[in-house]
Amino acid sequence: MSKMTQIIDKSEENILHTYNRFQIVLDHGDGVNLYDADGKEYLDFFSGIGVFALGHNMPEYTEALKEQIDKIMHISNLFYNEPTANAAEKLIKVSGMNKVFFTNSGAEAVEGALKAAIKYAYNKDGKHDHEIIAMDHSFHGRTCGALAVTGKLAYREAFEPLISKVNFAKMNNLQSVLDLINDKTCAIIMETVQGEGGIYPADKEFIEGIYKLCQEKDILLILDEIQCGLGRTGYTYAWQQYDVKPDIMTTAKALGNGVPVGAFLMNEKVAANSLVAGDHGTTYGGNPFAGAAVNKVLELFETKDIVGHVRELTPYLEEKLDALVGKYDCIKERRGQGFMQGLELTIKPGDVVNKGIEKGIFTITAGTNVLRLLPPLVIEKKDIDKMYDILDSVFAELA
Ligand SMILES: *Cc1c(COP(=O)(O)O)cnc(C)c1O
Repeated sequence: MSKMTQIIDKSEENILHTYNRFQIVLDHGDGVNLYDADGKEYLDFFSGIGVFALGHNMPEYTEALKEQIDKIMHISNLFYNEPTANAAEKLIKVSGMNKVFFTNSGAEAVEGALKAAIKYAYNKDGKHDHEIIAMDHSFHGRTCGALAVTGKLAYREAFEPLISKVNFAKMNNLQSVLDLINDKTCAIIMETVQGEGGIYPADKEFIEGIYKLCQEKDILLILDEIQCGLGRTGYTYAWQQYDVKPDIMTTAKALGNGVPVGAFLMNEKVAANSLVAGDHGTTYGGNPFAGAAVNKVLELFETKDIVGHVRELTPYLEEKLDALVGKYDCIKERRGQGFMQGLELTIKPGDVVNKGIEKGIFTITAGTNVLRLLPPLVIEKKDIDKMYDILDSVFAELA
């Protein structure tokens, strides 16, 4: 029996089967490449679902983590620590928000965001019947609050009722949002670019329209930037390209570059009128180890001008993907921004992913008919060329 088969069998014997996993054991990574336990190399065009923004094994990053491990990893939130103080200062600066709360995951950041919004509304009128508007095709995580605002019924159905009333509008259809607004509406939550749902960027008119509406009615705008945030679209946060500003924002995935960490951030208005001491907490959130990771990630984003790099290479990536769209009838269109791209297919995207893995590339699906590309933000032209060559041969075989 191969080593991979042994590890897979052991995993399936003991780990609850909530994922249909690829029959691959990944062992280590280097830059934009991943290696399985049998030594096969793969070009990484999914970054562990948009997490490894800086690629694998970046020396400056891993050194910073090792240093922190030797000092202290955890102290609880009953004390202060320097790495997290520095990380918070940097995150406030690049986001333009006012206050941050560190979490351990994306879903937990969404939970906190929802709690802040509900508390804000409760402080205003003392009522318990507030409603939230979310979007069809959205994805906000698997915990009960995050699930309640996730627009895929199959994920929610068995677990309902979840949190208080959530109504689903259509992304990029302002009228569908207007139709749902009433006196009880306390927040609108949406991804600036929908990821899991199939790579749907918000139209400028739509997101700016929602922002205006929220301003007028004192409804809180929660932008979920967990997947599209931190450089992936060519902006540190995707909303920064529009004339909008969220009241509350969530971030995770790329934030720790592999260390499990997320955050929700708020503007001054929400910070002054929502969660106070005793309202929210976490044992691990913002511990020195996670703080050191975030601090280093934000430092490297600046010194390596990661956002500038994404912007510079986006036209080349889009040109190559558009060439595939032009060449194969089974690719209907390309959608996306920066290094967050989707190809809508008339064939099964899962088949493309599987064939790609055979030929040495990792991609990922989104929605029901989209092939999603989330490469590390440090890819170079040669990696894009290699991606093109592999996918070209994949589509040639499947078309
Ligand atoms: C991944 C994701 C989440 C959930 O994050 P977890 O860390 O898996 O809990 C929430 N929102 C969006 C937009 C995501 O892409």
